[in-house]
Amino acid sequence: MTDCLFCKMANGEIKPDVVYENEQLLAFRDLNPQAPVHILVIPKRHIATLNELTGDDDALLGSLSRAAAKIAADEGLAERGYRTLINCNADGGQTVFHIHLHLLGGRSMGWPPG
Ligand code: 5GP
Ligand code: ZN
Repeated sequence: MTDCLFCKMANGEIKPDVVYENEQLLAFRDLNPQAPVHILVIPKRHIATLNELTGDDDALLGSLSRAAAKIAADEGLAERGYRTLINCNADGGQTVFHIHLHLLGGRSMGWPPG
């Protein structure tokens, strides 16, 4: 996807503040952090929303969650806790249409979310 912000990060055209990378995934700090730690974990392959996932993506989504847990541990959040979430479409608050998992931590999270 030539026109996608997160694809441009995945292919190196735009360089975010990367905290973790492997063959399939990239993780970088959010430009507008909503917590002391706010990191986005994305698949390098373009998938617009959760609605486009297929069974072929099951392992990829597992990897996304495991990468988030590893990054949380690296950031010193594992014991006190943190939140992960994926927004989908308008009501979910999605603004960038390339799947990304938010990792938020470093403060106590409220519930229910806004
Ligand atoms: P969404 O609302 O789609 O779930 O989350 C999109 C996230 O991407 C937002 O938290 C927003 O701050 C972040 N974001 C948007 N543009 C950029 C950018 O250019 N660089 C980085 N690092 N984050 C961005
Ligand atoms: Zn994309």
